[in-house]
Amino acid sequence: MNTTIPTKLTDRFGRTVDYLRISITDRCDFRCVYCMAEDMTFLPRNQILSLEEIYMLAKTFVELGVKKIRITGGEPLVRKGALELFQQIGALNGLHELVLTTNGSQLVTAAPILKAANVKRLNISLDTLDATKFKELTRTGDLQQVLNGIAASKKVGFERIKLNAVILKNRNHKEVCDLVQFAIDNEIDISFIEEMPLGVVEKHNRAEAYYSSDEIRADLAQRFTLIQSTEKTNAPSDYSDIPNTKTRVGFISPHSHNFCSTCNRVRLTVEGRLLLCLGNEHSIDLKEILRSPDFSSEKLKQAIIDSMEIKPEKHEFNIKEQPIILRYMNMTGG
Ligand code: SAM
Ligand code: SF4
Repeated sequence: MNTTIPTKLTDRFGRTVDYLRISITDRCDFRCVYCMAEDMTFLPRNQILSLEEIYMLAKTFVELGVKKIRITGGEPLVRKGALELFQQIGALNGLHELVLTTNGSQLVTAAPILKAANVKRLNISLDTLDATKFKELTRTGDLQQVLNGIAASKKVGFERIKLNAVILKNRNHKEVCDLVQFAIDNEIDISFIEEMPLGVVEKHNRAEAYYSSDEIRADLAQRFTLIQSTEKTNAPSDYSDIPNTKTRVGFISPHSHNFCSTCNRVRLTVEGRLLLCLGNEHSIDLKEILRSPDFSSEKLKQAIIDSMEIKPEKHEFNIKEQPIILRYMNMTGG
């Protein structure tokens, strides 16, 4: 029998999947209140993919038509060998874009190496410009270290740097204008993210802390003019331009504005689970296939192609209930 393996991933709803997000570690040097419990138990080494396995999977996905890979975590830059992995993945033929989501803590040293490894764009998380609040929100983070990381990345000259800010009512919601001003002053972009109910958090009530994108827009309108961007992307961010600045402001609104119909992405967890949707548990175990005695790259490819059949149409989040998704964001690859 001569079966040709397709070079494109398409799901039941006709969506092409050409974007893979890979979580390369569940560990992190921060403990952000919305992402992790204070006392986290991390996975033992034998349960997580080795860097070689991650590279092998990245290569396979690129052969199946994936054009963009985002490396995330946990904090990707705290994994030993991460920078070498960036170099390897960045050199894959057929990959158009390698990008990174980071908390910024390691960027002073990592930024030049990432740039040399072909990383095009960085997303750097920054929820507040107040050092005390930063400590409260991240529990272990140091604001100045992150600001230095942002400055170092700007100097290196990535195509684009974007800040990601998760906004929680009564924690940092009063800072949205200052964060945008910081982005304008630094000629970078910023996205505001509504908190998603992933994992059980003990420090705050998610329903009470919910601050919608519409509320943020209304706050920003007091100080800035936002004009809907005409640039079309598949991203869940809805972008606006601020005239006479280089800054775009994005809103990621999993609760108030559903973005599933144009979803082009899947996620690989550090345990080797391929998640077909952020807000559902539909997944397949790629680690099992990689480590099986009768492994073949054809079997791996076929399993990935078959997984498209179970990609759900949309996510179901309800901020008022305890999460149906018990994995934390650091396990998910946000
Ligand atoms: N450690 C890196 C960082 O913080 O950028 C990468 C991983 S982190 C899980 C990726 C993004 O997810 C961050 O921008 C973070 O703010 C966001 N995030 C974490 N938990 C979240 C939640 N429950 N709801 C919404 N966004 C969340
Ligand atoms: Fe770490 Fe990022 Fe989660 Fe914060 S959001 S705890 S930096 S993985």
